Amino acid sequence: MNLPRPEPMIDPFGRAVSYLRVSVTDRCDFRCAYCMSENMTFLPKADLLTLEELDRLCSAFVRRGVRKLRITGGEPLVRRDIMTLFRGLSRHLEAGTLDELTVTTNGSQLAKYATELAACGVKRINVSLDTLDAEKFRTITRWGALDKVLAGIDAAQAAGLKVKLNIVALKDFNEDEFIPMIHWAHGRGMDVTFIEVMPLGEVEGQRVDQYLPLTRVRASLMDTFTLDESTYQTGGPARYVTARETGGKIGFITPLTHNFCESCNRVRLTCTGTLFMCLGQEDAVDLRKPLRSSESDEALMAAIDRAIAKKPKGHDFVIDRTTRQPAVSRHMSMTGG
Ligand code: SAM
Ligand code: SF4
Repeated sequence: MNLPRPEPMIDPFGRAVSYLRVSVTDRCDFRCAYCMSENMTFLPKADLLTLEELDRLCSAFVRRGVRKLRITGGEPLVRRDIMTLFRGLSRHLEAGTLDELTVTTNGSQLAKYATELAACGVKRINVSLDTLDAEKFRTITRWGALDKVLAGIDAAQAAGLKVKLNIVALKDFNEDEFIPMIHWAHGRGMDVTFIEVMPLGEVEGQRVDQYLPLTRVRASLMDTFTLDESTYQTGGPARYVTARETGGKIGFITPLTHNFCESCNRVRLTCTGTLFMCLGQEDAVDLRKPLRSSESDEALMAAIDRAIAKKPKGHDFVIDRTTRQPAVSRHMSMTGG
């Protein structure tokens, strides 16, 4: 049965907020060098919203007109019993009040969960994979194993999930692999998206040493591929081109070289119930307190509306030799990528 569509939430800049990204844990089984420091202090488990609370929060956003939910982290698939949340949220897909339920994952647990994700109505997933070289994979993720991720991708495709690869462009690390990785991914029916390193949270080393502008990547890809502009949109910030030689798509997420805030349609919820209206700003609204204050959702709905009314115009990311501080102190794993 399809219920009537709720009116979308509109922010002060006239943007409809239809997309919620939810970080269900700040923990991870990897320690990617650009994302985390090796010795992370994670939140005490008692601070985390329960899966029931996460469901209630997500469902409140769906009632407020959110059409797309992305479950992320940290590594979302390492959270205990995470499939309970997917199973619960799938009811909104069945009711027609949600268009898409999806996940961003490092792939390490996909072999275990791919079939169940598909059964919950998940159709497309993002898998982060920065290199196809097992040793380099170990270096960049510190704790990850490439073969496990590749087995996860196999399982996801076998379960009928459409996989998109997220590749963080890292200077002097994976530049030489972009062309073979595109051939590999497109050959298997997977699109790829390149991401610029964002200055989020303290990590070992300097961001400027990791940062590779995608304007440069795109220019160098044009030596090999004919890139046709594409109108393809996934509701995210990536701009896509189609490689004529493979027929596959290549996306570019360019928070630094090209700010995409004017079309921002999303807000981000942390695993403790804090709502960030922008990935690159500190301003946030606590939803845990109104959530826990009453069994009715009235206070929660009012807090959501207050938050949307405060959504800022955009972020101010800068990476250069003179800017040593991260733009915001929290890591990507907290707000959810
Ligand atoms: N653990 C999951 C994963 O790796 O896909 C989900 C969370 S992760 C924070 C989401 C995405 O953010 C990944 O594609 C990751 O590569 C990217 N990411 C993490 N830190 C980043 C940073 N500082 N700049 C740009 N992308 C980053
Ligand atoms: Fe974990 Fe994803 Fe961050 Fe890597 S990018 S450390 S997999 S949360």
